[in-house]
Amino acid sequence: MTESTVFHKILAGEIPSERVHEDSRCIVIRDINPQAPVHLLCIPKEYIRDISVVTESQESILGHLLLVASSVAANEGLVAGGFRVVVNCGEDGGMEVPYLHLHILGGKKLPSLG
Ligand code: AMP
Repeated sequence: MTESTVFHKILAGEIPSERVHEDSRCIVIRDINPQAPVHLLCIPKEYIRDISVVTESQESILGHLLLVASSVAANEGLVAGGFRVVVNCGEDGGMEVPYLHLHILGGKKLPSLG
């Protein structure tokens, strides 16, 4: 069965989103339920279910997503204060949408993970 998640629909333009970045390999949108003053999602155009299934052939897109996350964080003015990049995976990891994406959070002091 073909996967169809909310991110497939956003990428297809079937669900609206506020895109802050788009290139040939990914988009960055604002999260609909922000957990911080800035909460962005970096989503590859190539479907990858989650970080547990990536292969060496996907090394380039994984690097690209991190580079874009750094760039949009800078554009959002997050570098001076700092920010967080999060990748959830699976049920225990709190993943709700089974389509690999990076969360980029900032604009306030985030709780320590330690
Ligand atoms: P995760 O729990 O890591 O799978 O994160 C999924 C994220 O997608 C959540 O932070 C949701 O708020 C966000 N989300 C779900 N639907 C939309 C949407 N239509 N537009 C923007 N963000 C969304």
